[in-house]
Amino acid sequence: GRINIAIDGPAGAGKSTIARKVAGKLSYVYVDTGAMYRAATWSMLQQGISSEDVDQVLQAVNNLEIELVPGENGQQVLVGGVDVTEEIRSLAVNAKVSRYAQIEGLRSRLVSLQQQMALRKGVVMDGRDIGTTVLPDAEVKIFMTASIEERALRRYKEMKEQSDITLKQLELDIAERDRLDQERMISPLRQAEDAILLDTTHMSIDEVAEFIVSRALS
Ligand code: C5P
Repeated sequence: GRINIAIDGPAGAGKSTIARKVAGKLSYVYVDTGAMYRAATWSMLQQGISSEDVDQVLQAVNNLEIELVPGENGQQVLVGGVDVTEEIRSLAVNAKVSRYAQIEGLRSRLVSLQQQMALRKGVVMDGRDIGTTVLPDAEVKIFMTASIEERALRRYKEMKEQSDITLKQLELDIAERDRLDQERMISPLRQAEDAILLDTTHMSIDEVAEFIVSRALS
């Protein structure tokens, strides 16, 4: 039968590439929870609401409408019906997302949306707290890491075309987000006890995807 697969780990570990691939091979639905935190952040920035102003954030969260639409070129992200797929990858969103992601009421809203998406099983979900908090009963849990140098390099290759950010800047950006994600009070980034630790520094995308698919089918 269908199962749920949880993939967690720090920024740039290759979670989304792998999760998309695994979902494709199993004909499952891919849910990118980072995209949801990014979409919420984009919306707050758009409305001029600071992450320091928790009351305003919580009010805005109540009216926030986020949709993930699976499409041919990956998933489309809509906020209130507006396509923000590209905008949520901007440096402005990168710089702020981990701050908004510390706000409890924002997290609980997104977590309940994520849990609804997984009710019927057959979901590959990636994020920071999927195995620990969102889907503690997921049948397969992976905690994916890679060295900080390798993670920065992977993001650099992805972003190079759209911006003139340097490798060093990206490394700092990733290290800062990791720190905020690990140190936050509510569902911090950490490996679930029953998750399989996968260091992908020296693994290819196909090797990692094959490993997870074989666990899912066993
Ligand atoms: O996965 P991605 O790098 O796009 O996630 C962006 C940010 O969203 C993370 O750095 C983290 O602060 C937040 N996030 C989270 N919980 C998740 C997914 C993402 O707090 N499940």
